[in-house]
Amino acid sequence: MEYRGCLVYDGDDTLWFNTFKYHLPAVKCNEIICRDLGVYSITPLEVQKLVREIDERNIKILGFSRKRFPMSWVMAYRKLCAMRSLKPKKNVAEKLYREASKFYQPPFPLKTLARETLKEMQSRGFYQVLLTLGDKRVQRLKIHSTGLGKFFNEIRIPSADKTHHLEELSLKFGEKIWMIGNSKKSDIGAAIGAKVKAFYIPWATSLDDSYECDQELYRQYVTELKNISELTTISILN
Ligand SMILES: [Mg+2]
Repeated sequence: MEYRGCLVYDGDDTLWFNTFKYHLPAVKCNEIICRDLGVYSITPLEVQKLVREIDERNIKILGFSRKRFPMSWVMAYRKLCAMRSLKPKKNVAEKLYREASKFYQPPFPLKTLARETLKEMQSRGFYQVLLTLGDKRVQRLKIHSTGLGKFFNEIRIPSADKTHHLEELSLKFGEKIWMIGNSKKSDIGAAIGAKVKAFYIPWATSLDDSYECDQELYRQYVTELKNISELTTISILN
């Protein structure tokens, strides 16, 4: 079959909402720790900061493993106990692990018109790839629960950088390939690195979204969209 070109989609926070899934487990884990430590507790904000530091270190060891976020909470709890010369409780650690693991449990609500957009672009004859970073089992679970799998010719779940996947696909499609994503670093930065044009759909769930691309290359390669359905209005894809 002859394809018109290739559209490479990011998944998390591009096709479905994802980052918010960490928020409630984090609040609940914080509560579990503060309750258990009682008078020995530090402030919830400091607990959160400690978890973030541990989680950032764990990225180097555990990468995108589904175990990382729950482990970081357990490690933070153990560290706080050690600081106060308390013995960590096994049942509290287990509770934390269980609660934090909810970040990857469905449902994952779809972005508005994500399904319709994928269907439309598929019917226009594009080869569609889902290129989503993460733990393979978790990403498969999300794809299954959103029911979006049928819109893709290929699903790729790298554990690190997307750049070489884009390079490989661009060998096949030449100029007719576009990356679509919400992350300046892992989607847009990778596309620029692979010399692939990109549609950037900003979706920040943090006040600090500070990654900066090379301005000149950004202007050359990137078009900003307000939402995923705007893709259907782009004249070059029509
Ligand atoms: Mg994303």
